[in-house]
Amino acid sequence: SYPALAARTAVVTGAASGIGAATARQLAAGGARVALLARRADRLDALAADINAAGGQALAVTADVTDQASVDAAAKAVHDAYGRVDLVVNNAGVMLANPLADGRLDEWTRMIDTNLTGVLRVVHAFTPDLTAAAADGRTADLVNVSSIASHVLFPDYAVYGATKAAVTQLSAALRTELGPRDVRVSAVEPGLTDTELGGHIDNPALREQLGGMFTAIPALTSEDVADLIAYTVSRPRHVNLRQSVVLPTRQA
Ligand code: NDP
Repeated sequence: SYPALAARTAVVTGAASGIGAATARQLAAGGARVALLARRADRLDALAADINAAGGQALAVTADVTDQASVDAAAKAVHDAYGRVDLVVNNAGVMLANPLADGRLDEWTRMIDTNLTGVLRVVHAFTPDLTAAAADGRTADLVNVSSIASHVLFPDYAVYGATKAAVTQLSAALRTELGPRDVRVSAVEPGLTDTELGGHIDNPALREQLGGMFTAIPALTSEDVADLIAYTVSRPRHVNLRQSVVLPTRQA
């Protein structure tokens, strides 16, 4: 646990499961107040109850990052409960896989709207908080969860990889706007991590292929990635890990 997390106010998107839920737990364990955003209210309520029972502070806020009104309402709920936010983890994401030739416009749209435009909606909602916190001399962080898929090319994951490459590029570019205002921007790029992410793939062969990757090598756990995020936001204020890749040791 990192003492630098105490007294911070965080928003974690995609906190209903996987990396987001683990990140919320670690930030809360370090003393941060954490707003949990995702669509599944039951999951968020259970996680908030767990964190609060363990002595932490968490708030469940149902939100869909593909819906501007929903993001606006979530930002208002967070501000009403916690005031200004100084730590944002953009983690909500979907990974759908199919050959590009299949022309799955539905999947392309959903991935772009969640993984890229969703990040932008959340950035827009909370950047004023981050810059105000930094102007007050507080540590302020924007962490975007990208992927090794932004560098490594996987057939049938072209659009997913494109959204993640965009998130990495967006993060580096945003640093040029926010860094001079003392807001850190970090892209965290995990490799194979054991979560629900692959569960939405509707192509049986590709689901099987992904399953095979999990049997071939020991994957990261959500906690492994959460630990990197907690580390990243716990550095001294003048230290910004711009881009971090974390892979299972056996992942090439
Ligand atoms: P999960 O599927 O467990 O988590 C994804 C989370 O995003 C869920 O909590 C889901 O909650 C939320 N989410 C999805 N769509 C929306 C939406 N429209 N609005 C709000 N929340 C949404 O998978 P991971 O934990 O693996 O994924 C987290 C991030 O990590 C993703 O960005 C993923 O791309 C990235 N990543 C994962 C890797 C892996 O191997 N697992 C590797 C590299 C990166 P709900 O459905 O309730 O909304």
